[in-house]
Amino acid sequence: MHATLPTPHAAAAALPHVNGDRLWQRLMTLARIGATDKGGVCRLALTDLDRQGRALFTTWAQELGCSVRTDAIGNLFARRAGADDSLPAVATGSHIDTQPTGGKFDGNYGVLAGLEVLHALNDAGLRTRAPLEVCVWTNEEGSRFVPVMMGSGVYAGAFSLAHALAATDAQGISVQQALQATGQAGSAPAAVADGAPRFSAYFEAHIEQGPVLEEAGITIGAVTGALGQRWYDVQVTGMEAHAGPTPMALRRDALLPAARLVQRVNELALAEQPHGRGTVGQLSVFPGSRNTIPGRVRFTVDFRHASDEGLARMDHALRAAAAALARPGLEITIEQVVYFPPQPFDPALVDAVRQGAQQAGLSVMDVVSGAGHDAVYVARTAPAAMIFVPCKDGISHNEIEDAQPAHLTAGANVLLHAMLARAGRA
Ligand SMILES: [Zn+2]
Repeated sequence: MHATLPTPHAAAAALPHVNGDRLWQRLMTLARIGATDKGGVCRLALTDLDRQGRALFTTWAQELGCSVRTDAIGNLFARRAGADDSLPAVATGSHIDTQPTGGKFDGNYGVLAGLEVLHALNDAGLRTRAPLEVCVWTNEEGSRFVPVMMGSGVYAGAFSLAHALAATDAQGISVQQALQATGQAGSAPAAVADGAPRFSAYFEAHIEQGPVLEEAGITIGAVTGALGQRWYDVQVTGMEAHAGPTPMALRRDALLPAARLVQRVNELALAEQPHGRGTVGQLSVFPGSRNTIPGRVRFTVDFRHASDEGLARMDHALRAAAAALARPGLEITIEQVVYFPPQPFDPALVDAVRQGAQQAGLSVMDVVSGAGHDAVYVARTAPAAMIFVPCKDGISHNEIEDAQPAHLTAGANVLLHAMLARAGRA
């Protein structure tokens, strides 16, 4: 005889659940702040609209009994006390700033799913052993101020607080001025190195912003890590000349090697599947006249890969291709301008996401994040993992960005289970 084991269904029934309608209502309410005519959101970092969104978050968190603190870069932390409040917090969160033509879910979902987790625990009368925190990271999008993922970057020490505060927008307004103008500059230290508390675990729920989950018909993505990135500025210099009198053999056409390198970028990424990515997103041709042979071409290259070795292979191959195309009078320079190392997430936390999905009876698959997220920086300071849910047609950074309420609810339940497992029941 075998002992009777609880069925997966019975185990799931013993777990608290989020309220999906309430999560959806909060998403729609927050989306009204900065709502665009096309159904999206424009709520740029540290604008008055961003302040209004943060105020709404703060009100909701306080209604749940949380204390809210702000650090020197404007990151917000809503805290639900634990039975042993001296333990490091189990945290979650994301961002509520958006792109100029952004959607309702990018970032906002991770923040409000975190709030819903706290609300569900309140409903269930459950106390955790460790405290829980929901973070709102400042200026994740980077569309008003560079660097992107600014709040989490300062927190993790990717760059200094002073560097971030000095960044200016297109009008010359600095982050420091915008923080003061919107009342978002807090007194708590912003960087872990300056005493900001470390988390014992950090989970971030996010819409996938890509098509993999939807394509596979899977509800939950357990994100095993984020792709590393190398960005380049490439310049090809030849010589302008008249399109008519200059014979083909005597030209120093800068666009021709550029076109071959664009092709090469694509081939190099295709040779590094499943995770290699290669994109040329900007290309400028000078002088840009239909009857002048181009004398100069500038373009960007964005390489992504799960491993540093893979990034290095793509780097070497691109440089080799450029060297083979260059000749006297036709010069090619390649300058690397951005590097993000690949960031694997914590295996135990990724497993907590898988288990959270299985406990809730949800389909789950491992995925990688091709985009940067606050979790990628936080992972430098604490064990971290992410939970992806599908978004419609994989579209994001667009006003038509959409997600199914059932998927958003599912992701929040996985977040609840994973956080509860890490924080422990009191
Ligand atoms: Zn985001």
